[in-house]
Amino acid sequence: MSKVVLVTGSSSGIGKETAKIFAEQGWNVIATMRDPAKDTELAGIANVYLARLDVQERKSIGSAIAQGIERFGRIDVLINNAGYGQFGVFEGTGDAQIKQQFDVNVIGVMNTIKAILPHFRENRAGTILNVSSGAGKFTLPLISLYAASKFALEGFSEALSHELDGLNIKVKIIEPGGTATNFSAVSNDALSETVKIDDYDPFVNAAGKMFQDMRNFSLVTARSVAELIYEAATDGTDTLRYSIGNDDFNARMNARKELDDQEYVNFIRSGYRKYL
Ligand code: NAP
Repeated sequence: MSKVVLVTGSSSGIGKETAKIFAEQGWNVIATMRDPAKDTELAGIANVYLARLDVQERKSIGSAIAQGIERFGRIDVLINNAGYGQFGVFEGTGDAQIKQQFDVNVIGVMNTIKAILPHFRENRAGTILNVSSGAGKFTLPLISLYAASKFALEGFSEALSHELDGLNIKVKIIEPGGTATNFSAVSNDALSETVKIDDYDPFVNAAGKMFQDMRNFSLVTARSVAELIYEAATDGTDTLRYSIGNDDFNARMNARKELDDQEYVNFIRSGYRKYL
């Protein structure tokens, strides 16, 4: 019998490629998204079932899971991919924006996991993959809220993996670096809704030059991240973290692992301080 995966945020980018790869590999796929009417591709694939799921609407989470189980009989793997980046100076960010960042990237993941756990416990099997980010391991300027949400997701996922160990339910974390998707457009929209505070201008300009330097490294493709997600879901190991990114990303990940804490922070700061 084919295995079954449920993916959140499969309208575009990493989520869409992930749904496609699992379908290509013969899996039954419950591709969930906020607005299934916008889909132009996934509904045409035979073993893909489209369901509406907005991670901020609890009812829609329960309903998508129930529809998926009704359609395919069970769910083996949950991929919490839906997410976005609230970029911008923290002080200029509104309360609603702060809350939404955590509602989508953290609470939405928690609610989706809570909704599927009774099914996984009953089966005494299940795998949960949470899409974090390099920003769950290292920080960059102007992404304090996004980094806070992904650091929270990392701590939550790691600790949860211990608690579910005895029930044969695996938790895994995927950490992509910059990936060619709609992510930057969505983050720039979120950034444009923050309030500009002139005192931060020199810092914002320096950080902008640092991001320009980072853009000299090419982005990874959503397809390659989706391939890593597929590998994590099927490799049969209990490996917790999987990362993928360009050389700049790898240098930052290595700094986090290999330098002591202050050396790592100094390394990150050097990227924008040289422009201040
Ligand atoms: P993307 O193309 O913008 O896709 C994001 C997906 O999340 C879309 O399907 C979007 O749906 C969905 N989403 C947003 N809010 C949602 C909500 N409330 N409920 C349900 N779905 C929601 O960006 P992406 O790069 O593929 O992002 C996927 C994941 O990768 C995110 O968790 C992101 O943080 C992570 N990531 C991305 C990068 C990168 O550079 N691209 C790097 C590291 C990590 P709509 O179409 O309805 O908005």
